[in-house]
Amino acid sequence: MLATVDSVAMASGAEAPYDLAPRRKAELVREIETDYLVVGAGTSGMAFVDSLIAGADGEVVMADRRHGPGGHWLDAYPFVRLHQPSANYGVNSRSLGNDRIDETGPNAGFYERATAAEICDYFARVLEQDFIPSGRVRFFGMTDYRGVDQDGHHFTSLLTGEDTIIKVRRKLVDATYVESSIPSRHEPKFTVDPDVRVIPPNDLVDLHEPAAGFTVLGAGKTAMDTCNWLLDAGVDPDMIQWFRPRDPWLMNRTSTQPLELVGAYMHLQSCWVEAAAEAEDATEFAHRLEGHDVFVRIDPHIEPRAFRGATISTRELESLRTIERIVRQGKVLHIGTHRIVTDQGDIATNPNQVYVDCTAAGVRPTIARPIFETDRITLQYVTIGIVPWGAATVGVVEARSDDDAEKNRLCPPLVFTGDAADIPRLVHPGLTGLLARSADPDLSAWTETSRLNPASGAADHFDDPRVPAALASLAANIGTAMTNLERLTGAPAATV
Ligand SMILES: Cc1cc2nc3c(=O)[nH]c(=O)nc-3n(C[C@H](O)[C@H](O)[C@H](O)COP(=O)(O)OP(=O)(O)OC[C@H]3O[C@@H](n4cnc5c(N)ncnc54)[C@H](O)[C@@H]3O)c2cc1C
Repeated sequence: MLATVDSVAMASGAEAPYDLAPRRKAELVREIETDYLVVGAGTSGMAFVDSLIAGADGEVVMADRRHGPGGHWLDAYPFVRLHQPSANYGVNSRSLGNDRIDETGPNAGFYERATAAEICDYFARVLEQDFIPSGRVRFFGMTDYRGVDQDGHHFTSLLTGEDTIIKVRRKLVDATYVESSIPSRHEPKFTVDPDVRVIPPNDLVDLHEPAAGFTVLGAGKTAMDTCNWLLDAGVDPDMIQWFRPRDPWLMNRTSTQPLELVGAYMHLQSCWVEAAAEAEDATEFAHRLEGHDVFVRIDPHIEPRAFRGATISTRELESLRTIERIVRQGKVLHIGTHRIVTDQGDIATNPNQVYVDCTAAGVRPTIARPIFETDRITLQYVTIGIVPWGAATVGVVEARSDDDAEKNRLCPPLVFTGDAADIPRLVHPGLTGLLARSADPDLSAWTETSRLNPASGAADHFDDPRVPAALASLAANIGTAMTNLERLTGAPAATV
């Protein structure tokens, strides 16, 4: 009889429990032991392990369904780039790229942003040149974590079917909880007539004949990347129809710059905290940031109702604004040869349209749970929108102590629901964690020097007037901001 199966897949609501019993008799051939079993070798798992092994002894086993490390980047559309600078992405111990400010091209004036291929190569090097040679990390690709029973944790090779029992001395680390939902691996929620061509953005580069037009479905950053790629490739804006039911608030790329341009990021931080101190609700919070050019939107006449932390440049925004065929008519239910059925009525269409499905959620909404539990760590966001910095922070905190209550105090999780109305509920735990960690001298010193923190090194840039101005503003507003956020969200007062 099996004990309760507490699988990561179940935790993220993805799958039914796996029945271990019939397979166990015939196929279990291997048993291994480790201190940490990390399920998921995407950015979260990799950034966590890097910081964990830098700060603590012990062995780590990593398992991923994909063939190598990198997570969703291994299946990303070919024209994707990081939305943020490479300078703050990846693991703490190794740079990604050359920390160069691009001088030409669409990213001119901003720190370089890696392609998916560069990110995957980077993570492969972290694994092969750093983790494996440390002698403390073992990696199992094409391996599905199945759950735990009285014998231990179980994973199965997707190639051979071989089951392995893993005895975990310290903790299971669920690095799948905030797993990205991406177009190439997602099932659309609408149905399609057999002769209609619906493709993920990945397949745009495989088209062999011109389309009558392109209909882009989805309002997120993937849809924006797709529209911009089509426009840059010479497609006339009138050939693009864009189903965009909910416009999002977006971060202005100018505000997210680190290193030599860190004054911009410090300005963002001070505007953020000032808005948190003064706003009466989420709408006002967003409009205050828009007033400082920190938040931007595609259409100034439409009130955004979504927020997922995506970043965009002014150039990209201006390009997107050339697309005038915007459809805001609710959710698509069915695509036929001549009609698109939405929950708010039908829309005429024509054959030979190429429909590009960008409706996958990207950053998925999750239910917040304590990050540190007796035998488990559930990686979640602890910094707003910056996955590697958050996961590395959790690794550093885990390496320092065994006190789960204290570690949870330092790392309150925050949840991206995707709803702009929830921004204060996102900002409150984000600031609570930042304050708690900055009051701890060791953690504060690590944060100050971490390459994953966009504000790192700001103290060396007092010659940029935005830095001292931002620090003064932060000091003046942080107390009021926390009180106001507690009022807006009903959250208890933070204990720092
Ligand atoms: C197009 C795009 C651009 C983005 N740009 C940025 C950016 O610039 N900056 C930023 O901070 N964030 C960005 N993000 C957000 C992104 O989600 C994170 O940066 C990060 O890559 C997420 O990493 P992850 O490890 O949490 O998830 P994933 O990359 O999804 O990795 C999770 C892994 O878990 C594995 N897994 C799941 N279940 C199991 C199981 N049962 N057994 C074994 N393995 C399992 C999966 O195979 C997967 O490899 C972007 C997201 C997208 C989609």
